[in-house]
Amino acid sequence: MPPRAVEQEQNQLSFAPEKIDGDRIQQVDIYLKFIGRFKLPPAELTPEEEKRQATLKRHRIKSRERYRMIKAGEHKVGEPFRLTCKNCGNTFESMRSNTIFCCAKCCADFNRHEKTKSREHERICLNCGQTFVTSRADKKYCSEICRNSAHIARRRAKRSKEKTE
Ligand SMILES: [Zn+2]
Ligand SMILES: [Zn+2]
Repeated sequence: MPPRAVEQEQNQLSFAPEKIDGDRIQQVDIYLKFIGRFKLPPAELTPEEEKRQATLKRHRIKSRERYRMIKAGEHKVGEPFRLTCKNCGNTFESMRSNTIFCCAKCCADFNRHEKTKSREHERICLNCGQTFVTSRADKKYCSEICRNSAHIARRRAKRSKEKTE
């Protein structure tokens, strides 16, 4: 092979690094002599491995954020982090950068709220026929007004039935 061709081939081996989500990713094609282009089989991840990768990625983002804060002078090593509570939105201090809630009550409140949200489902009001969202299994009416008017209608029906009998 003439030297020029070798040089050209080498230039094609690596690509300029591109930034994806803050991670430095460099695409490198692997060429092996004699067998030509060699393709690695795609890695098949089990759900557990995928979860682990996601956790690792979260940790990477967190530690980058921590580093950025230190570099920007927003945080000094050994001093607490100023964080925002995910539940009440108040600012609080924590020695850990990944504390989510300002207190145990906020943590419980938030989790209870999430649990309620996961139980939410659509239902049709027995009075007005409109769709409404509830987390309760026994809710029949979209509003107090519908509940009351259904109650009144039931009473009226009962009374007129009594009159005709
Ligand atoms: Zn809070
Ligand atoms: Zn209704």
